[in-house]
Amino acid sequence: MPRLYMETFGCQMNVLDSELVLSQLRAHGYQQVNDRDEADVVLYNTCSVREHAEQKVWSRLGELRASKRGNPNLIIGVIGCMAEREGKSIFQRYPHVDILCGPGELDKLPSMVHNAVLTSSSIANRKSQIANRRQVALMGATTRRSSTLSAAEDHLELLDLSRSVSPGDDISQAYVRITRGCNKFCTYCVVPYTRGPEVHRPPQNIIDEVKMLTDHGAREVTLLGQTVNHYAYQHPDGHTTTFADLLYQVHQAIPHLPRLRFVTSFPRDFTNEALQAMRDCERICRYLHVPAQSASDRILKLMNRGYTSQAYRDFIDRAKDLMPDISIASDFIVGFPTETEEDHKSTLDLIRYCGFKNSFIFKYSPRPGTVAIDRFEDDVDEDTKRRRNNEMLAVQQQVSTEHNSRLIGQTVEVMVEGESKLISRQKRSNNVELGWDRTIAVAEIVQTQLVGRTRGDQVVCFDGDASLKGQILRVKITRAQNLTLFGQLTALAIAPPLAV
Ligand code: SAM
Ligand code: SF4
Repeated sequence: MPRLYMETFGCQMNVLDSELVLSQLRAHGYQQVNDRDEADVVLYNTCSVREHAEQKVWSRLGELRASKRGNPNLIIGVIGCMAEREGKSIFQRYPHVDILCGPGELDKLPSMVHNAVLTSSSIANRKSQIANRRQVALMGATTRRSSTLSAAEDHLELLDLSRSVSPGDDISQAYVRITRGCNKFCTYCVVPYTRGPEVHRPPQNIIDEVKMLTDHGAREVTLLGQTVNHYAYQHPDGHTTTFADLLYQVHQAIPHLPRLRFVTSFPRDFTNEALQAMRDCERICRYLHVPAQSASDRILKLMNRGYTSQAYRDFIDRAKDLMPDISIASDFIVGFPTETEEDHKSTLDLIRYCGFKNSFIFKYSPRPGTVAIDRFEDDVDEDTKRRRNNEMLAVQQQVSTEHNSRLIGQTVEVMVEGESKLISRQKRSNNVELGWDRTIAVAEIVQTQLVGRTRGDQVVCFDGDASLKGQILRVKITRAQNLTLFGQLTALAIAPPLAV
């Protein structure tokens, strides 16, 4: 049984792609291992959004050069956005790589891997050094097509449709794709080039997948799309299922799913109907991740975001008017070309105004192939980017602490994700005296700190037993920091895991 090691970089979409590919390879008899040195096949599912993410993969590939020399049978594959963007230049730079597979060709990856494994043993039998004879690259399925394909005609749909759950899979929190690709072309972003045009999946396929996962034990399903709220599926008879329709349909069709979420939302595309669906459907989490990127109208225009700072604020007001308890997160790019101190200050004001739960702040990274790298000089120096980044983080920390502090004293619903890695601790019981000179520890009370999330996506830590993983519990909040809430368990599970 060939052993497979896979490492995933980047967004939730990549995490889902890896899961789908792994499930197919397991069906072909591959066994997943956590130690790269034990593997017969090493796959990196890559991200090209920022240079830093690509550098990590380059360095992993460099490390594998020696491994391949020691074991010429080792199969190395680069899949995902880097394979699409860099293409065969990866083979030139690292001839020991065997497989390149872009995000638009992942349905073919299992047979590519399998062929490489078979070819590898025949090459090894001939003691040949020409490892690159088995090199194979599949990219380009995401290149722009003139019209939007319906997902029913899209071969990639088969990858999602083939999804299966094996015994032992942890699917208490699961992702389901509703849209592939992106048509927005923000000037800094590689995604429209690496993942291709927007393709919406048929609603029935989405509902079936959410139902299958829920029947197998999923407690929280997150619907995924680069601009998830832009979902609109055109049926053959001409009528359209909108994002709001989809939310209502999934909510109604799967009444035993305790939590439904979606990411990432695009500010300009949010209809009142979609917000009303969130308000009306009690099991849809009142959480939005809706990146603003900047609050300067001039910068937003250079980014081609298609909205103004005021329009973004109006949207946040609209969402809060309908759902006063909503929790909102954002993304920002700091140091975009020509960004001034005034632009930066307006972004700080926006963070304060919106009261975000948290913000993901990224220093601008010029990406080859994008409009921004051709059109604008990366003229904000590194020190300024770093300082502005720190200032934004400081303001966001203050806002997050205020946001979290409002929950002190309240009892919230928390879905347990597992043991808190940061805080897990063990407490020894008091020693027990057995006689005049003997004191031994007869018992060890293990106090585990669990971590989970509220419906608003706030992280909560509390003492509890590791067996509670996957359950939804009520926790009384006693303390708040900017990133974490602390609390005490108050009641039994309100949504115990299904027996599967
Ligand atoms: N589709 C989502 C949207 O429109 O907001 C986000 C997708 S993108 C993969 C995730 C985040 O990466 C973006 O929100 C943006 O803040 C950041 N990002 C994308 N390209 C970047 C670049 N060239 N430099 C720095 N950050 C970037
Ligand atoms: Fe990239 Fe913009 Fe599309 Fe988001 S909306 S994936 S930032 S092009």
